[in-house]
Amino acid sequence: MRTRVAFFDMVEGTTNVTVFMKRGTKKHLSPDCIFCKIARGELKSQIIKEDDQAVAFRDINSQAPTHILIIPKKHIPTLAAASQQEGDLLGHLLLMARQIASDEKLESGYRVVINNGVGAGQSVFHIHLHLLGGRVFTWPPG
Ligand code: AMP
Repeated sequence: MRTRVAFFDMVEGTTNVTVFMKRGTKKHLSPDCIFCKIARGELKSQIIKEDDQAVAFRDINSQAPTHILIIPKKHIPTLAAASQQEGDLLGHLLLMARQIASDEKLESGYRVVINNGVGAGQSVFHIHLHLLGGRVFTWPPG
């Protein structure tokens, strides 16, 4: 039997909707989230790579000659909000970042960053990896 139940919760200012399509099948949607819109193709972006789980696209405000964002298609607001069950998905994002770094020939080194929470500078509450390359990076980061 097909049931359809929706509930709303507020996570870091974003409205999340979990729609139960069939018993035991969930789809995580977030209608207001700009990265969900990019993942659904509703918002234009310069997509580099895409598969069934993730999308990679160029950052609109580049902080390095190469600055690519890697996001899961599933809406997860922050790293802190990710569950144990999402471990494979998080690993998938890292491996996609590694593959793109190789495709982009970032031979001299690259940096992969996740900002978690407002205090760390997170501004879009859909988990994403920043892949930065093409210049020298200093440590500690600002
Ligand atoms: P963070 O501050 O870690 O949450 O990173 C969010 C990143 O998303 C920033 O580097 C923004 O420049 C980038 N960004 C925001 N909107 C878009 C967009 N529509 N397309 C591409 N990058 C975006």
